[in-house]
Amino acid sequence: MEQNLFVYNTLTRTKEKFIAIDPPHVGMYVCGPTVYSDVHLGNCRTYISFDLIFRYLIHLGYKVRYVRNITDAGHLEGGAGDEGEDKISKKAKLAQLEPMEIAQKYTIGFHDVLQTLNVLPPSIEPTATGHIIEQIELVKVILEKGYAYEVNGSVYFDVEKYNKTQDYGILNRRKLDDLINNTRDLGGQDEKRGKLDFALWIKAKPEHLMKWPAPWSIGFPAWHLECSAMSNKYLGQHFDIHGGGIDLMPTHHTNEIAQNVAACDKNPANYWVHTNMLTVNGQKMSKSLGNSFLPQELFTGQNSILNKAYSPMTVRFFMMQAHYRSTLDFGNEAMEASEKGFKRLMNSFTLMDSLIASGSNEVEIEPLLQRCYDAMNDDFNSPVLIAELFEASRIINSVNDGKLKIDSNNLALLKQLMRSFILDVLGLKNEQADDEDLPKVMDMIVDLRSEAKNNRDYATSDKIRDGLQKIGFQLKDSKEGTAWSKI
Ligand code: AMP
Ligand code: ZN
Repeated sequence: MEQNLFVYNTLTRTKEKFIAIDPPHVGMYVCGPTVYSDVHLGNCRTYISFDLIFRYLIHLGYKVRYVRNITDAGHLEGGAGDEGEDKISKKAKLAQLEPMEIAQKYTIGFHDVLQTLNVLPPSIEPTATGHIIEQIELVKVILEKGYAYEVNGSVYFDVEKYNKTQDYGILNRRKLDDLINNTRDLGGQDEKRGKLDFALWIKAKPEHLMKWPAPWSIGFPAWHLECSAMSNKYLGQHFDIHGGGIDLMPTHHTNEIAQNVAACDKNPANYWVHTNMLTVNGQKMSKSLGNSFLPQELFTGQNSILNKAYSPMTVRFFMMQAHYRSTLDFGNEAMEASEKGFKRLMNSFTLMDSLIASGSNEVEIEPLLQRCYDAMNDDFNSPVLIAELFEASRIINSVNDGKLKIDSNNLALLKQLMRSFILDVLGLKNEQADDEDLPKVMDMIVDLRSEAKNNRDYATSDKIRDGLQKIGFQLKDSKEGTAWSKI
């Protein structure tokens, strides 16, 4: 296991050496999506960034328990998350569907998109509605400890009281007075003692769709609470990494820490990791600003801002070319450059297998391999890693052109480097190979089946046809021969 990984910790605003609490185990919690609409490309950036982190930790030999929740209740409209209507309930009313139908639809959509982008699934994906009991229990503890109060069936966290003994602004580095002065008066204000107090449990209005009985009222848990309850349940009171988009840091994560400290006397995570935003013309991509688009639109090119379609791996490569803590601006030119770069890299990846080792050697791969690790150990610096991979790609091309000699040891190391970093760590796939090789393989299978049929070996020919059917390919026999298609 590599011991020199440095991770930028938002808590300390510095890059810190990564020391796992209980190696080789690592616990990582990342805030998941609110499943009330399709995830846009900006959301995907955050999950792709954490996929890189997850993959690299696995590559280093850590056994990672990665928990990423699904917010299917309690996330209200409005910045702080406890004013306005529940986002999922609102959508359900508009569509005349059950809230769970909305959650199910967009959870499936979220999974499909992430799979297309080759994002690994987390180890556990808990839902807020599946953890109502845990959330009620957590509210009880915070009430017992004296950091929350009940008004008319709702329970609020008492920020000013908490800040008397603790530092509420430990993560966002804001002073309480500044925060108070900059906070608008919003809904529920008459019930709250202080402007910054936030809801833990909200009494449901009669028209509210998703509600559960609790000691205080029939109501529902507020958004910040679910992450404290679920990270606690699956990773314990103290775990290694807590992540999310940087937009979640000032309020959602600040409140999560307050809840955990109030209940368990502990900041839940050692490293708070935040990914930066995907922007369009310098503005955060977001649904409410109307500048967001769907990954599917990118894959098909069906959006007026796009010059053409881009493949999922081009999109992933584009994202990997920026460091996760930098903003990344979406644009056609940048996408086209990424498309070219990705093709160049994958061409040499394919070429690599046909290289022939020489008796002599003119290139040492070990230092290059070390530079790849150095890049990733420096706070998961994927753009620097990609620059090193282009160096590997130049070496492959030179060997192929006969301009450079490489011996078998170095060639083996070069292949290992390319496979580990391109496939395992960056999570890229060779789309070209998929496209080009499939017809050849299918033609071969169809030929084998025809041969079996000609030999009157119908058992084998049927086995091939039924087997293909099961995995999504259909064969059609005609006078001209057999055609295949994807179902
Ligand atoms: P939400 O469903 O709104 O809670 O967002 C899900 C995740 O996407 C959160 O971690 C956000 O920080 C993240 N996110 C939202 N907009 C963007 C964006 N433009 N770029 C990167 N991440 C984003
Ligand atoms: Zn969260």
